[in-house]
Amino acid sequence: MNALTNILETRLFINGEYVDSMSNQRLSCYNAIDHSLVTNDVHAATKEDVDIAVAAAQAAFTGWSSTLPQIRAKILNKFSDLLEEHSEQLSLLEHVCSGQPMLAMKSVFIPAAATRIRYSAGWSDKLAGQSFPAENGFLKIVHREPLGVCAAITAFNAPLMFMAAKVGPCLAVGNVIILKPSEKTPLSTLYLGRLAKEAGFPPGVFNIIGGAGATGAFLAEHLEIDRISFTGSLATGKKVAQAASKSNLKRVGLELGGKSPSIIFADADLDNAVHWCTRGIVTASGQMCNASSRVYVHEDIKEKFIQRMKSAFEGIDISQTQAPVIDRIQLARVERYIDQGTKESSLLTGGTRMENSSWIRPTIFVDPSPDATIYKEEIFGPVVVISGFTDEQTVVEKANNSKYGLHSAVFTQDINRAMRLSSKVSSGTVCINCTLMVDVGLPFGGCRQSGWGREGGKIGMEEWTEPKTIFVNLTY
Ligand code: NAD
Repeated sequence: MNALTNILETRLFINGEYVDSMSNQRLSCYNAIDHSLVTNDVHAATKEDVDIAVAAAQAAFTGWSSTLPQIRAKILNKFSDLLEEHSEQLSLLEHVCSGQPMLAMKSVFIPAAATRIRYSAGWSDKLAGQSFPAENGFLKIVHREPLGVCAAITAFNAPLMFMAAKVGPCLAVGNVIILKPSEKTPLSTLYLGRLAKEAGFPPGVFNIIGGAGATGAFLAEHLEIDRISFTGSLATGKKVAQAASKSNLKRVGLELGGKSPSIIFADADLDNAVHWCTRGIVTASGQMCNASSRVYVHEDIKEKFIQRMKSAFEGIDISQTQAPVIDRIQLARVERYIDQGTKESSLLTGGTRMENSSWIRPTIFVDPSPDATIYKEEIFGPVVVISGFTDEQTVVEKANNSKYGLHSAVFTQDINRAMRLSSKVSSGTVCINCTLMVDVGLPFGGCRQSGWGREGGKIGMEEWTEPKTIFVNLTY
């Protein structure tokens, strides 16, 4: 515990300094593995604190947006180097909250966060805008300008990844930011203040505040915040969008949930399909927005596939490699869904907790009705529903019949069918013969109620800018 005490930071980071919250209210943070208290001293930002952070950010905006883009890139690159140099500390701070294995933090999440920041840094001087010839006597130019003061709110399951996906592009193009992590896993993000300072961000450019839903709401409804980027549940995302529209119509980016389908055709490589469909739902105990939680398998191979999935699920000890379910509330929620599922469908395997632990055994339900709760709702646990199908048209309709549209997967060895399906399936990402793929250079986000907008790639960078159209009268 000493290693933790030495690095623990629970205060707000505003205007380049760690400061106390204006109120005495403190939040507690618990360990996901055994539910023990990690700290009861996380400062929750009040409305007044948010106002102070916004004022600091506003004061920093003019300077930062007119800083040479190469200098902004240099600071972002230094920040990403520091993420890697502090990998041990950041991994521990996240591990003690989420139970995410240290190895996964060090080998996957921290390097990926650093890569995302570097990717954005590279764009600092490359969003060139457009120009159009003056055939009609008017030269037309489109500039991409920063928006101003931005806010970012992140979900509990991969805080540093979400931080990087928002802070990187936001600051690279000249905005300033106030970042709020989830109250369930805030510690790795709160630690970043010292790295931001060391990297050389001027005071007020990069602010970090702790807090729960109330603090998030202060950001969403703030009149002086120009954009808010939110990663979290559909229910909260709707509240953020409502608060934004009721206040100042700030720009809103939403990365929300999913109920992502995988379609397995009879000609699919079965080993490969079982591998990815298993990984797609056991990773992080199913606590991924793009988890492969609905599987449709062709009737010709259904029985064989289901038996193979069952063996794969029963052969894994996820407590050795995956994060547990985040807390008691989410455990109870997943268990409620499982109880409901046993009434609505046939439980093939799993459905119970591993002995005295916070891990739920990977769970398969077979042939739920289309009205079943477990078939329609995002569970955010290691629970998959498997149904059969016979023809392509019907399975596409079933796959698309969801309020979500974040991700989908198609397994087949027929390239024509794969390409046809990649157009017909309606989701932000379609994977062929794999699942869960994300790439920093490519847009990620959802159709329908999985969200608004995209993160990643050039498209993701542009979301942090406002286009400005300029007409120059050359006949004057
Ligand atoms: P959540 O919606 O409970 O909380 C997310 C964040 O919103 C937290 O920081 C929380 O403090 C804040 N918040 C709560 N109430 C608020 C309010 N009224 N106004 C503003 N902010 C408020 O989500 P969670 O449980 O942390 O995360 C799980 C959800 O996130 C799942 O639905 C998952 O699919 C989704 N998610 C989506 C993506 C994506 O990229 N699409 C990635 C990860 C998680």
